[in-house]
Amino acid sequence: MSATIIDGKVNAAALRVRVADEVKRLSSQHGLTPGLAVVLAGNNPASESYVGSKAKVTVETGMRSFDHRLPDSVSQADLLALVAKLNADPAVHGILVQLPLPPQIDANRVLDAIDPRKDVDGFHPVNVGRLASGLPALVPCTPLGCVMLAKTAHASLAGLEAVVIGRSNIVGKPVSQLLLAENATVTIAHSRTRDLPAVCRRADLLVAAIGKPEFVRGDWIKPGATVIDVGINRVPGVNGKSKLVGDVNFAEAVEVAGAITPVPGGVGPMTIACLMVNTVRAACAIAGLPPPAV
Ligand code: NDP
Repeated sequence: MSATIIDGKVNAAALRVRVADEVKRLSSQHGLTPGLAVVLAGNNPASESYVGSKAKVTVETGMRSFDHRLPDSVSQADLLALVAKLNADPAVHGILVQLPLPPQIDANRVLDAIDPRKDVDGFHPVNVGRLASGLPALVPCTPLGCVMLAKTAHASLAGLEAVVIGRSNIVGKPVSQLLLAENATVTIAHSRTRDLPAVCRRADLLVAAIGKPEFVRGDWIKPGATVIDVGINRVPGVNGKSKLVGDVNFAEAVEVAGAITPVPGGVGPMTIACLMVNTVRAACAIAGLPPPAV
């Protein structure tokens, strides 16, 4: 039997529509237009492409986009001064500093300088701590997207055995915290985990965030389980072209799982849509309004 495909593109499009509806409502009822500032230092082509997509979706959902491009040679002091200016700007509700930063910049110092209320990437220690404490927080976008996709396959995640492979601050740890908040029974696996296939076979919900192409095999998956594949790996394809694959061997997994996200077209498209969600949430919190319906 073949698994249900969890379509990230369709889910992300629907989420963007819900964000746009909330933005309209905030504008008409409260005169509030959420604004997202994106800061890019240097000219890394991948970062330029991400930043361009983020700005485009911000405008499409009816929000204000503030684009700040800085030279590769920017000093730590100048970058911190820009963050301070954006923290103080009432038109800016979300601040995203695109990573990686040039080598002369201490990324942690920059992320720590962002007002936690405007930290739409959810990387500030205050938001990390609030998430871990079970308090309302701005949470990282990719993990938020993973949980939203998992919920399309389960009415509730409560009581599920969830196994997360990966413990990074960007994906593995926050997705584990979010699943715990959803009352799943969470196991975090990593490179030192003993007998990873056996650990994975326990999972009703398996989240793979490893960064190794097609690492998770079909016989690691419990029949009927939901598989969320966060991995984005570029590998050689046909005719000398490269292609994207996930951390899960999709061809094998689709025969065993109950539901699975493809790569591309699964978790990836949800990330920017969740950034929009975070910007609207931040704008409401800063304005003292109840949380939005997204
Ligand atoms: P990191 O490299 O920061 O973390 C990888 C994790 O995988 C580590 O915790 C590591 O364990 C674990 N790991 C590595 N090898 C093994 C192994 N052999 N067995 C078990 N665990 C292992 O990666 P990220 O979390 O940043 O990203 C993970 C993947 O998700 C990447 O493919 C990335 O491209 C993708 N990604 C996709 C996004 C999106 O869809 N928008 C956004 C962010 C990431 P240990 O800690 O022990 O070293």
